[in-house]
Amino acid sequence: MDDPFIPKLVYFEPKALDYPLGKELQEKFEKMDVEVRYTTSHNQVRDLPGENDLQKYRIAKSTLVVGIRKTLKFDTSKPSAEYAIPLATGCMGHCHYCYLQTTMGSKPYIRVYVNVDEIFEAADKYIEERVPEITTFEAACTSDIVGIDHLTHSLKKAIEHFGKTDYGKLRFVTKFHHVDHLLDAKHNGKTRFRFSVNADYVIKNFEPGTSSLEKRIEAAGKVARAGYPLGFIVAPIYLHEGWEDGYFHMFERLEAELPIEAKRDLSFEFIQHRFTKPAKKVIEKNYPKTKLELDEEKRRYKWGKYGIGKYIYQKEEEENLKNHLFSYLEKFFPDAKLEYFT
Ligand code: SF4
Repeated sequence: MDDPFIPKLVYFEPKALDYPLGKELQEKFEKMDVEVRYTTSHNQVRDLPGENDLQKYRIAKSTLVVGIRKTLKFDTSKPSAEYAIPLATGCMGHCHYCYLQTTMGSKPYIRVYVNVDEIFEAADKYIEERVPEITTFEAACTSDIVGIDHLTHSLKKAIEHFGKTDYGKLRFVTKFHHVDHLLDAKHNGKTRFRFSVNADYVIKNFEPGTSSLEKRIEAAGKVARAGYPLGFIVAPIYLHEGWEDGYFHMFERLEAELPIEAKRDLSFEFIQHRFTKPAKKVIEKNYPKTKLELDEEKRRYKWGKYGIGKYIYQKEEEENLKNHLFSYLEKFFPDAKLEYFT
């Protein structure tokens, strides 16, 4: 995806228009070639066009609902952060393995919340409760916030808000390269900007509607030069023909792009491909032609919470993946911190 996301259909909830950001978005979309509708609540967004479930799913993914966040109780977001900060939910990307397919069920449209100051006030209370401990907030638990932020600038405001706190930090991850408006945000080193990266093959085949590896790497370079602490999530690490070269090339390109200073404070997270039985069903429904390998027989079963276990790679394959990725990390980024392999 080269151009930043523009929704095809936008709904406004009535209360959203009481907030400056709601008004601003209303003016913006009314001037654009976008269909604008008004609804009493996002729950009423039922009459989405489309002749079948698949079409409706696709249209929902390019539909934006502008509303307010009513519950200001934040979910926890262990282990990478203390809390999830809710600025948006949903995503326009079409990654075949996206976990939002199972968590958002029948409501895959994108929602943005315009009561950002109230959300920041709630965050400040969470920070106060834990002083002198640092409290970290994750902004990408329920959406790819960077991919939507060129429309709202809520993430930019959050970055600047946490930049001013003494005990608050922010982090998020993205598969999009539309970062230019975030480069001059006064982040004060309090935000860790992470990119989700993968071998070219994986991005091309399983992540339609997101930015290419090349573009993500370029964007990571810009973000690093803007002085943000940087991180990479390599996920899902997926066995495919030529995977050794694919991941090697990815590290090699990253190394060539990043300035020396950024390499001293880099974090990496490695997540091997996994699926659950319920996720497999949804993936096959939403992306019936996917080449994604989802054969339980080939995998190792790992017991999980609430009785829903996941299928991960066989022990030997896992070791092989680990050995290769660890050696690439050591070769290209010896000072980076590997947070986990899972
Ligand atoms: Fe899901 Fe992230 Fe892909 Fe969006 S970019 S569809 S949130 S995996």
